[in-house]
Amino acid sequence: MKIFVVNCGSSSFKFQLINMESSAILCSGLVERISAATGNLTYKQHPGTKNSRELEEERAFANHSEGIIRVMELLTDETYGVMKNLDEISACGHRGVMGAEKFTKPTIVEAGMLKTLKSLSILAPLHNPPTIQGMEIMNEMLPCPSVAVFDTEFHSTMPEHTYKYAIPEKMYDEFGIRRYGFHGTSHRYVSEQAADFMGKDRDKVNLITCHLGNGSSVTAVQDGRCVDTSMGLTPLSGVVMGTRSGDIDPAIYPFLARQTKNNIEEIDAMLNAESGLKGICSMNDMRDIHSARAHGDPKAELAFQMFCYSIRKYIGAYFAVLDRVDSIVFTGGIGENDDIARSSICAGLSGLGIEIDAQKNSIRSPESRSIATEQATVDTMIIPTNEELAIATATMNTLKVA
Ligand code: ADP
Repeated sequence: MKIFVVNCGSSSFKFQLINMESSAILCSGLVERISAATGNLTYKQHPGTKNSRELEEERAFANHSEGIIRVMELLTDETYGVMKNLDEISACGHRGVMGAEKFTKPTIVEAGMLKTLKSLSILAPLHNPPTIQGMEIMNEMLPCPSVAVFDTEFHSTMPEHTYKYAIPEKMYDEFGIRRYGFHGTSHRYVSEQAADFMGKDRDKVNLITCHLGNGSSVTAVQDGRCVDTSMGLTPLSGVVMGTRSGDIDPAIYPFLARQTKNNIEEIDAMLNAESGLKGICSMNDMRDIHSARAHGDPKAELAFQMFCYSIRKYIGAYFAVLDRVDSIVFTGGIGENDDIARSSICAGLSGLGIEIDAQKNSIRSPESRSIATEQATVDTMIIPTNEELAIATATMNTLKVA
């Protein structure tokens, strides 16, 4: 069974074709800078194998549909193709960002579902429209069914006192303003993998999962279900991120509007794209920040300390939320690869039973692993995330029961 997974962002999309029998990736890639004068397509056939071939194209893609049409051509291309006919694809899995309270489990993409999803675009104006475009074009081009797997699903189990904001109730009633959370597919995937790794039932583990990448979020998991998460109505809240501020005093927003005379869009763009690590040290890639720190750059050091401190604070808070913590779980580009960040985040948490073994922490590996010391009473694990495989698996399971 071959499942094509599409993950549409506001001006880009990623894709993977997965053979579900072996979990092998048949091809993968990325289309970026959609609607810019020049866009980019990167396509890898059989990535990571001897037979791998790669293609880079620089050309304009007016919209997401044009990019998807080009990728579909490549799938059956004589040189780069991985199949004879597109009807060899059994199903398509879409990453949905905002399912709000309407989609709390993976959902087959059809006309009624798309109408409901369109009505949610007010909550995710940058992400939902391109996702919908991707769903529509795939349904047009492929005879197979499509399933949407939403980032917000895993967080839909949060209790009311967690997901509500203490603002007038009519804001929730009229506009659906509440905490929805993001990265849910990743938090669910690593929670399940962590439970399997520990040999525990998936619905009996208590975890604090830290998805740390360019965007970062921390989630409290009680008995395998999300009970709190750091992102909110939008992905802006929570820990310090690559270019997003994370939690700030909400009164900064009206203050800035009054003082700078910038409009809503300008302030929104500043908080989302010019803040976080980038706002402090002008860099948002953690590898660049480490090399600047190594050269004694005080701004890079400050940005790094702010990042680690904000995550440590959430870990502490979620200890208070959970009645027991079995393990801290690190995932995402930074969580999986950055031993310096992991050790700095966990420094000083020995009072909570968290202790990292320096030697285990320094080992690079693509495998799930524990990095806790023998004495630690709370485990610390690195679990590589695989959102595409999680979406493909959810797609397959949804169609099995449909
Ligand atoms: P996104 O949120 O875009 O999916 P990723 O999960 O790919 O982000 O993470 C990107 C971040 O991971 C970047 O800050 C990058 O510097 C960091 N990263 C990737 N590899 C390493 C590494 N080896 N050491 C430190 N940071 C890394």
